[in-house]
Amino acid sequence: MVKEAFIITLVFASLFYFILEIPVSKIIILILLIAALNLCLLYIVGYKRKKDIAEIKRVIKAIRKDRLLNEKDIVLSKSLKDLEGNIRAMSQRTQNDIANMTKLAQARSDFLGYVSHELRTPIFTIQGYLETLLNGAINDPKVNRSFLKKAFHHSENLNSLLNDLIDISMIESGLMSLSFRYFNLYKFLNEIIYDIKQTTFKEDVTMSHIQDDLDLEVYGDKEKLKQVIVNLTSNALKYTSKGTIDIIVTQKAKNISVTVKDTGIGISKEDHFRIFERFYRTERERSSSVPGTGLGLAIVKHILEAHNSSIEVKSELGVGSEFTFKLKKG
Ligand code: ADP
Repeated sequence: MVKEAFIITLVFASLFYFILEIPVSKIIILILLIAALNLCLLYIVGYKRKKDIAEIKRVIKAIRKDRLLNEKDIVLSKSLKDLEGNIRAMSQRTQNDIANMTKLAQARSDFLGYVSHELRTPIFTIQGYLETLLNGAINDPKVNRSFLKKAFHHSENLNSLLNDLIDISMIESGLMSLSFRYFNLYKFLNEIIYDIKQTTFKEDVTMSHIQDDLDLEVYGDKEKLKQVIVNLTSNALKYTSKGTIDIIVTQKAKNISVTVKDTGIGISKEDHFRIFERFYRTERERSSSVPGTGLGLAIVKHILEAHNSSIEVKSELGVGSEFTFKLKKG
């Protein structure tokens, strides 16, 4: 600061001496006056600057200590209005980042909690049956086969849970790769219905092939859409003890809609939105012995979103359910 005052004084002295030709004695008095004035001015400017810096420090410290959580509380003096806007924007961004990180950490710990809980149930059940068999039940012809069958059934559940978990984590981490192409819809649907009929049979439930043999092409990832249809029809089969399951295709101008309809137990209104959340099973299913992971519909929703589509549900308790989605027509 003194250096600046000295330079300014020197500039004025040279001006007086060389241009205005003022005598040296007067110049000395003038120089002293200018130097004093200079110092006063620089002192005032310096004082203001120091005050501003102290204000900025105070605000940053308060933000760091989470005392200024609301951006409107960040107020600086008039001369620092520009900086105030920038600090506010920075603080808002930091708050958002922190909120996102907290949410992610919570989601991760919820996910781990659910997974370990869901894995524990089938593993404990399998262990229970195997232990009973090893402790002697293996030689009891009345129970040995049925215990083995049950253990096998639970190992299948465990397998489908692991497959669903792998799918959902691939999807949610953005690793799901899609390969879009045109394919014949009726052929595709009838092949899936054929496979389901071969593997899952329920005496009182009928599931018909689609009669229409139109050359209708749709655009999408065939393998992923197969998973959508399989998940919806296996749910329809699982939650229908008697009646019919239909796959209905409706053509519109630019797209087609596919509906999987059943005459099963139905879903109550308040559960219509929640059933698409991962791990969500209705109270009824959680307390029953119907196997399931609560991941099937979450996977369906993700796959359809990747096709710029969505899934809609219409359902009434005791009457049945309809799940509908649209696909782009070829
Ligand atoms: P889950 O493995 O439990 O079947 P989903 O994500 O596929 O998991 O379905 C979530 C819940 O939605 C199920 O637990 C069930 O309560 C309900 N649900 C799904 N589809 C049907 C259906 N067709 N009929 C009745 N309830 C259904």
